[in-house]
Amino acid sequence: MAAACLFCRIIAHEIPASIVYEDEALLAFNDINPQAPTHVLLVPKRHIETLNDLQAGDDQIVGELVRRAAAIAAERGISATGFRTVFNTNRDAGQTVFHIHLHLLGGRSLQWPPG
Ligand code: 5GP
Ligand code: ZN
Repeated sequence: MAAACLFCRIIAHEIPASIVYEDEALLAFNDINPQAPTHVLLVPKRHIETLNDLQAGDDQIVGELVRRAAAIAAERGISATGFRTVFNTNRDAGQTVFHIHLHLLGGRSLQWPPG
């Protein structure tokens, strides 16, 4: 755990969050500033700053994040209508929390390309 990391503190239940799913390896919780009717963040419990820091040994957790996002989309009834999954990395993508997180967005029509 990185003591100064907001998402590590949410994972440790030091800071409250609206938790959607939790297991040994990952946590999913509602974004505090939702950009769509469904806006869930999925994070590995292990602190990884950006996608640039991924190692081969992280393949399992990245796969779990993506599969869990699809499962939550199914629970929300948006599998068929569609949803978007996004990892933002560093400044140009607008990453603000440096603990990797997969955004799951859906429940409305989403524009492409993003801004
Ligand atoms: P990024 O811009 O790094 O890809 O996304 C960070 C996300 O974290 C943003 O969508 C922001 O609304 C969300 N966020 C920031 N602080 C908190 C918080 O304390 N709780 C929750 N649930 N989400 C947060
Ligand atoms: Zn962290």
